[in-house]
Amino acid sequence: MIQFNVPPFVGQETEYMKEAIDNHKICGDGPFTKKCNQWFEERFQAQKVMLTTSGSTALDMALMLCDLKPGDEVILPSYTFSSTANAPVLCGASLVFVDIRPDTMNIDEQKIEAVITDKTRVIIAVHYAGVACEMDTIMEIARKHNLLVVEDAAQGVMSTYKGKALGTIGDFGCYSFHETKNYSMGEGGAVVINDSAYNEKAEILREKGTNRAKFFRGQVDKYTWVDFGDSYLPSDLNAAYLWAQLEHADDINANRLSVWNRYYQEFMPLQDAGKIQLPVIPSDCEHNAHMFYIKCGSLKERSDFISFMKKNDILCTFHYVPLHSAPAGQKFGRFSGVDEHTTSESDRLVRLPLYYNMDAADLDKVVAKVKEFYASI
Ligand SMILES: *Cc1c(COP(=O)(O)O)cnc(C)c1O
Repeated sequence: MIQFNVPPFVGQETEYMKEAIDNHKICGDGPFTKKCNQWFEERFQAQKVMLTTSGSTALDMALMLCDLKPGDEVILPSYTFSSTANAPVLCGASLVFVDIRPDTMNIDEQKIEAVITDKTRVIIAVHYAGVACEMDTIMEIARKHNLLVVEDAAQGVMSTYKGKALGTIGDFGCYSFHETKNYSMGEGGAVVINDSAYNEKAEILREKGTNRAKFFRGQVDKYTWVDFGDSYLPSDLNAAYLWAQLEHADDINANRLSVWNRYYQEFMPLQDAGKIQLPVIPSDCEHNAHMFYIKCGSLKERSDFISFMKKNDILCTFHYVPLHSAPAGQKFGRFSGVDEHTTSESDRLVRLPLYYNMDAADLDKVVAKVKEFYASI
């Protein structure tokens, strides 16, 4: 069976995890966590990056830092993962879903301004498939209306928009290192703080409401409970696993891109023949090959495609069921404007196997079977 995803593994993970165990440093904010944080800050020119227990808790932290009040509104796409929406709900905000662009599957920046009300506080930009939203326009709208911007860059680690790392453009950025993402620590994530005015508040929030970070830096002589907080520190064991992969970040990125580019080249003729549609990468964006999807002609065709591939031992999967049509989406939010593309585009999208170190023969087989399916219809 050709899996849809295989978690990344480069080889040194075990050695680094053993090092953490042998040194009796397995709790949060140990040496590997510090190395990872620093790596992201240097590589992405980020003001401050802190590992968290997941991409979801990175989003929770970011939205809590936005200081929302019950009744405040948060704008986000309906075509996203539940975590993007849970974070504002946890803060008591209500959700305002906006349509996506059919080319990138990202929030349609042209449809944002019309849904802003006097209760709107935050825009969450989800960089689907590691391809950036139109951030210049989104930031301009946000500044004009005095809104904060959170980037859900869970899928966008190592991608850029106009040369800037995703996650470093808005007020806050969120990464995920779940095993389905490009770089993994099993479960984990990171929050990016782009305005240093939030640094201290973020540290306190992440460290159970204490000023422990300040204490460790010698800035206060004892630490105490200073504000509301929770625990968002991952174990250094998990950070050790991630560190091995960061040392190979370019290699992992290049390897994934080569699979992505192969699919793209091979399926170009199918797009030219009007049978499928391929992903669009706007010229301002460099992507990280997080995902390769095609769009079928219809929902029915997609179901047939998935069955055909499965019969041939290849696992292909569809993606998000739009949140505004889910029970919780209806409870916590509303779709503002017209659902022109969200439902119809998500119905046609199917993702192909893509992971680090994918076997060459497996890749050949996926390519051949996709072509075989489309030769028959
Ligand atoms: C994976 C993902 C998340 C959640 O990350 P976890 O680490 O699994 O909690 C949030 N948003 C998007 C867009 C994702 O793809």
